[in-house]
Amino acid sequence: MSTDKIKIGISACLTGQEVRFDKSHKRSTFCMDALSEFVEYQAFCPEVAVGLPVPRPTIRQIRHEDMIKVSRPDGTMDVTDALTEYGKKVAEQTDHLSGFIFCAKSPSCGMERVKVYSADGKGSDSSGIGMFAKQIMLNNPNLPCEENGRLNDAALRENFVMRVFVYRQWQELKAAKVTKHALTEFHAKHKYLLMTHHIATYKKLGNKLGTSTLPLEELAEQYIADLMAALSKNATRKGHCNTLMHLLGYFKKFLTASQKQEMLENIDGYSKGLVPLFAPLTLFSHYLKEYPNDYLSKQSYFSPYPLQLRLRYGY
Ligand code: SF4
Repeated sequence: MSTDKIKIGISACLTGQEVRFDKSHKRSTFCMDALSEFVEYQAFCPEVAVGLPVPRPTIRQIRHEDMIKVSRPDGTMDVTDALTEYGKKVAEQTDHLSGFIFCAKSPSCGMERVKVYSADGKGSDSSGIGMFAKQIMLNNPNLPCEENGRLNDAALRENFVMRVFVYRQWQELKAAKVTKHALTEFHAKHKYLLMTHHIATYKKLGNKLGTSTLPLEELAEQYIADLMAALSKNATRKGHCNTLMHLLGYFKKFLTASQKQEMLENIDGYSKGLVPLFAPLTLFSHYLKEYPNDYLSKQSYFSPYPLQLRLRYGY
């Protein structure tokens, strides 16, 4: 992977910029103190970009019969079209981004469950998507996207960062040129990661790459769409244990009975929540050094992102 820093789009208030309606910010500690070591952020505040001042009166999503608008409760300061147009414009210039982190609940930036008020102001539901975020996601369906609040969840955080790093590698492959060989190598590298997250897609894609008669460009587009959708499913303990048992198969002939037993106890301990995933993975990494295997060494499953992020300690 290139040594250039990965670029991620982010709601500006999450970086600490005081651009919220009350001139405050919502600085994300994880984004700015941990992940920032490995990525470079491009910050966007859509409300400021469409000309709203800081500070400003709050705006909200309001349902008007068949459409949702963003304005003041009395209908003034309607920025629906401006936010949508700005979102479209940014969305067309995001090929260099490998992910996007949105500020939750915002009528402009919220990724999901944004409050939508009834026109008479008497009720609300949480079915909205931020006007700006919607355009980014619609136009870049494979781009890993997440919200600041959800990044506090260890599994969701790990999943997002993993997808960002996989997607970046895909962008690099595309920039270099997609060939059948490169596509097959890419799939091989992420085989165990995919198997852990979604075994049905793992089988489907392996088969598709081997038998498809689609033009390469079409095959590649279908491949990355399926891969990113599958990786967005959180890995379960069962999924990890299945992968760990497959990995054990590679080492069986080298390990002594007591080493095998130790590994099985680690996997069993992980399946019961008694030891973190890091425990069996560390043992495997140790055996991989002792008994080198080219195919396994290339597996992104062992280190899908920098270990310093400590994302696998929590579960
Ligand atoms: S949530 Fe979005 S629109 Fe609101 S202050 Fe943050 S960046 Fe700006």
